[in-house]
Amino acid sequence: MTYLVIARKYRPQTFEEVVGQSHIVETLRNSILSGRVGHAYLFSGSRGVGKTSLARIFAKSLNCPEVKDANPCNRCETCESISAGTNIDVIEIDGASHRSVEDIEVLRDGSQYMPTRSPYKIYIIDEVHMLTRHAFNALLKTLEEPPPHVKFIFATTEPNKVPDTILSRCQRFDFRRITPQDIVERLRQIAEKEGVDIETSALYQIAQASNGGMRDAQSLLDQAISFCGAKLTSEEISRILGTLPQVKVLDFIRFLNEGRKEEGLALIDEIYWMGGDLSLFLEQVVENMRNLMVFLSLGERGRDFSGAPLREEVWRPLAKTTTLPKAIAFTQALIAAKKKVRQDSQARVILEMTFLYLCHFDEFLRPSNLLRKVEDFSSKSSFSLTSPLTPKPTSSSTKGKLPVSASTPSASSAPSAIWKVEEIKNNWTNFLEILHKKLDKSFSLCLTYLEEAKCEKITSDSITICFFQDFLKEVVEENQEFKRALENLLFQLTQKKITVYFTYSSLSSTQGTLGGRGCKSGDSAEYSHLPEIVQKAIEMFQGTLLRPRETSSETNK
Ligand SMILES: [Zn+2]
Repeated sequence: MTYLVIARKYRPQTFEEVVGQSHIVETLRNSILSGRVGHAYLFSGSRGVGKTSLARIFAKSLNCPEVKDANPCNRCETCESISAGTNIDVIEIDGASHRSVEDIEVLRDGSQYMPTRSPYKIYIIDEVHMLTRHAFNALLKTLEEPPPHVKFIFATTEPNKVPDTILSRCQRFDFRRITPQDIVERLRQIAEKEGVDIETSALYQIAQASNGGMRDAQSLLDQAISFCGAKLTSEEISRILGTLPQVKVLDFIRFLNEGRKEEGLALIDEIYWMGGDLSLFLEQVVENMRNLMVFLSLGERGRDFSGAPLREEVWRPLAKTTTLPKAIAFTQALIAAKKKVRQDSQARVILEMTFLYLCHFDEFLRPSNLLRKVEDFSSKSSFSLTSPLTPKPTSSSTKGKLPVSASTPSASSAPSAIWKVEEIKNNWTNFLEILHKKLDKSFSLCLTYLEEAKCEKITSDSITICFFQDFLKEVVEENQEFKRALENLLFQLTQKKITVYFTYSSLSSTQGTLGGRGCKSGDSAEYSHLPEIVQKAIEMFQGTLLRPRETSSETNK
């Protein structure tokens, strides 16, 4: 017997064998049983979900002389020739390659003749949306006055491209993506029949990779069997899919959460030299971050994309390494990096930079952090707090300084004083601190990135914030909710509608990428203009100051 690919060999032959489209199967069967069959059908849905398979079964049921309970016999000559695609009365047309008006005219002429051996002449047009406008017009004429012996079944992945005049003359059926459980179930049956031993986790991997398409899933299984033989493990499937084994991805997330830079960078290096696709890797990381967030919220009741429960022994230890707000912030950054990695030739650098950035998430030298550390230090030493960085009490607030009452954490949600928009630029540091206090914790990543930017321009109704790395700008810009929250807060503070713009400039990018521990501390001469206590603090915490210029302008006042 000749070798048949699995997708072909296990193509459903009866209504019962069609997986995951029971809503359509039932309707079609009933229409046959009740003798109310329409003359034109449109099957829409993504690729590999069973549209043409079901079209053939439907055609067989209409024409099979031995039809029983609406199911074709699959043994008679009619059934066999339809299955093989050689039946003279069931004409399959590929709309992508037969899209011209001439092609449709041939079809129209042919449809005038009675079927040769069967009750109906059935036209199955696949990818019907590919027809030209003139071809659709020609088709429409036939649909308007269809000969009673003719049935049309159109299949399409893009129903929105089919003209309304055609749609309105068809019974339309929208095929669903097939759920991972259904795919796994079907693959398991096939593997059994093929005598292949395959791990359940491997089946889920295939199901997930095939995006709800049964045909793709079966092709993958086919490929796996021809590569690996009769015993398939999750690791082998990973290799075929070009994905990394789950355990590596989880390791990466653990390193990220725990700030284990050396191990994380080593893992990226390993993936890189293995020839792994970094954007695919990031995709896996993001998907697993999603699972982690779900586990953090729902525990074992959470499920992954394939519908499988999140196993306690896998996710509990990982959940202990982070918090939900942190996981959300990390995922935002990773999604942004994923997009960037796909377009950029420096994929590895972007991945490493994102990794390091997030490793330092907790220890960024925010102005507020720095102040807190200085205050801690000061209370234990003889230094007195006279730094101009310290917010002054309201009573002594001078003109040009933001009303400090709004910046204290105890301030009510409505600030007691109205700000002047123009003052924000000169008080950028204070402003950022207020943002940290007022905005939701889920924006902490955006705020951290904002600290790496400067306020470039202010008008009476807009603020332009300039980043020195377009990557950071993109992360912040893509978070529409952050922009909205920022604008809302600005409205509260100034009683004016202010639009926030983000720009990027590669010039004057003197700021360091990373602050905090583990970084080379700045040259002390660089900070000679700062108050002594701040210099001490920078030295003590081996820190860098993120905005030397703004700070110095304040100092010089
Ligand atoms: Zn038959």
